[in-house]
Amino acid sequence: MKRARLIALFSVFPLVSIFGGLLMTGFADGLSWGYEGEEGPASWGALSPEYALCADGSAQSPIDIRGAHALDLVDIEVHYGESANKIFNNGHTIQVDVDPGSHIIYNGITYDLLQFHFHAPSEHSIAGETAPMEIHFVHQDPNSGNLAVVGILLTEGENDSHAYAAVFDHLPAQVGEPEAQGDPLNLARLLPETHGYYSYQGSLTTPPCSEIVRWLLLDTPVALSAEQIAAFRAIYDGNARPVQPLGARDLLHDSG
Ligand SMILES: [Zn+2]
Repeated sequence: MKRARLIALFSVFPLVSIFGGLLMTGFADGLSWGYEGEEGPASWGALSPEYALCADGSAQSPIDIRGAHALDLVDIEVHYGESANKIFNNGHTIQVDVDPGSHIIYNGITYDLLQFHFHAPSEHSIAGETAPMEIHFVHQDPNSGNLAVVGILLTEGENDSHAYAAVFDHLPAQVGEPEAQGDPLNLARLLPETHGYYSYQGSLTTPPCSEIVRWLLLDTPVALSAEQIAAFRAIYDGNARPVQPLGARDLLHDSG
């Protein structure tokens, strides 16, 4: 009996410590990074040669939106359908993996919607002002591998967002695998009515900070209730990279 108990103790201990590590910093790509301290954004570029762009890049995201050039840009053609709510906690954020079929067409290129996820507070700011949260709809051109990310600032309103209820009613506090929860999502309802947007060429806002992203930040926010925002922030509060220099890049605005 004594021996069995000892073995049990030893076999449980590493699991506990690994799991604790995952909760603190995440592990999606095997290299540990986070939002605080020695693994925080200021250190990402030094954590691994694969993350060098986080420090040395010239087209990094997010940015502060100011001084945008007003232009009549092409529309973002949104073709979103339904998807199971395959929600999970990936160690850095809450993410929903999306069923195949939903996509956008931008500048003649079809980008498939892969997933969406959240940051609190927002990563992009507008004239220095952050929003309580930001959502990123991540799309990929299967031919080039390039990404188009539609970003939406989430503000606090009076009422629950019904469109987002299926997501915010099932936020997983523990790191885990995608698992369908509740009713299917009507993805088009997650977007605001108008589609004016800011556009610039940038990067992933997480390691490895790859500079492969056409950013399309909608200029109309979506409102969530204080309770919905608090439910997310109880799990992740501060999973936002600081803004990066715009540098020589064009920042464009189509007011829809
Ligand atoms: Zn993001």
